[in-house]
Amino acid sequence: MILLKSIPKVDKFILNNYFNNLSKPLVTSITKEVLQNLREDILNNKVTNINEEELIEKIIKKYEEITKPSLQKVVNATGVIVHTNLGRSLIDENTFEKVKTIATSYNNLEYNLLEGKRGERYSHISKVVCKLLGCEDVLIVNNNASAVFLVLNTFAQNKEVVVSRGELVEIGGSFRIPDVMSSSTAILKEIGTTNKTHLRDYENAINENTAMLMKVHKSNYSIEGFSSEVEFEKIVKVAQENELIDYYDMGSGHIIDLPYGLKETEPSVLDYMKYNPSLLSFSGDKLLGSVQAGIIVGKRKYIEKLKKNPLLRMLRVDKLTLALLEENMKSILLKNYDEIPTLKMLLKPIEKLTQNATTVKTALDDICKCEIIKTQTVIGGGTTPNKKIPTIALSLEFKNYKPNKIEKLLRAKNIIGRIEDEKYLLDFRTIREEDLELIISTIKEIINA
Ligand SMILES: *Cc1c(COP(=O)(O)O)cnc(C)c1O
Repeated sequence: MILLKSIPKVDKFILNNYFNNLSKPLVTSITKEVLQNLREDILNNKVTNINEEELIEKIIKKYEEITKPSLQKVVNATGVIVHTNLGRSLIDENTFEKVKTIATSYNNLEYNLLEGKRGERYSHISKVVCKLLGCEDVLIVNNNASAVFLVLNTFAQNKEVVVSRGELVEIGGSFRIPDVMSSSTAILKEIGTTNKTHLRDYENAINENTAMLMKVHKSNYSIEGFSSEVEFEKIVKVAQENELIDYYDMGSGHIIDLPYGLKETEPSVLDYMKYNPSLLSFSGDKLLGSVQAGIIVGKRKYIEKLKKNPLLRMLRVDKLTLALLEENMKSILLKNYDEIPTLKMLLKPIEKLTQNATTVKTALDDICKCEIIKTQTVIGGGTTPNKKIPTIALSLEFKNYKPNKIEKLLRAKNIIGRIEDEKYLLDFRTIREEDLELIISTIKEIINA
């Protein structure tokens, strides 16, 4: 076991010049770990000689693994605008600049500047949201899942909530209406069948233990053929006749008229506000295009009750969320859709997409085979299920590589494209103009490597 004796001593080893610019405590901790592993490997006869250079390399590699940012920028070239895996909606740079002061200085988050006393966290957002939506009041929570949970927990503890069987949604990340219902201690009263639910099903389900008639948006699926559901307008009416709460979990709430004929199938929050509902909730970062948040709007008396639920403390949002949401809501109110990247991408004309694709094609034409393709994509993220929107993509081919090899090479450089009909595509619906140069230089680098 002469080898054991030659294991370097930690305090000496860390003095090596290679570690000069690194954090001493972290290098020490990693070195201890690496040398301990070496000792065990020697004892298990897995190692027969000690190579100091290899040890240094190993320590630096571990150091980099730990200190390199794990959350990184990627280029979304998939064409899916609200891509749940890629961070859903983006924040416009100027908007981010505007709210920077709020995050980096003290602010009046819960302080009433006029009266010099404690203020209300949610008051900042209510003016612009109520003007935009015509609601009496608004409450913001962590995300729409929290919103659903809070509404059920506040109004339906041990009471029945009537939901159509056709709307017992499961969305990604294990959010299922029946499970959220039971963890909020509401009792699910299923009505109708998978394909058909009638108004009389709601009426017949009501009894003295009913608290709420709930509608859930079929975010990520559609039921076609012999099917029918009851319009929210009618549910609101029945609920109000029976002194019950009506509540619509809209999933993705958007406030604009959607292009590409999506307007007919996906009404906006404004269309539902016309019915004077008790409560509506929707996500902040799906089609609304803002930050992760759950937005609950409706009648003041119900919002007041939600605010009194002690669980709100667990679901509340930070100043950054409120500041960004306030700015984004203002942009929507003023119809400055260019300031909301999700809407900007959705509304971007085909000519502009073609122009961007041409820029990239022209820069790469000499070194690879690329072709501009008219195709289709989806909005994604639990919105407009099965609905396609037109887009422009560039198919890429070089070195006779298979599409999945090209996909892998670009993914290694944080560019995420998609494969369609055996072709690797960069979809310009979701590529930001700011990233065109990055895409060009990265592909050149890959081809020349
Ligand atoms: C997306 C969605 C939710 C959850 O919203 P998050 O903001 O992701 O928490 C809830 N209900 C429906 C119908 C949805 O589509």
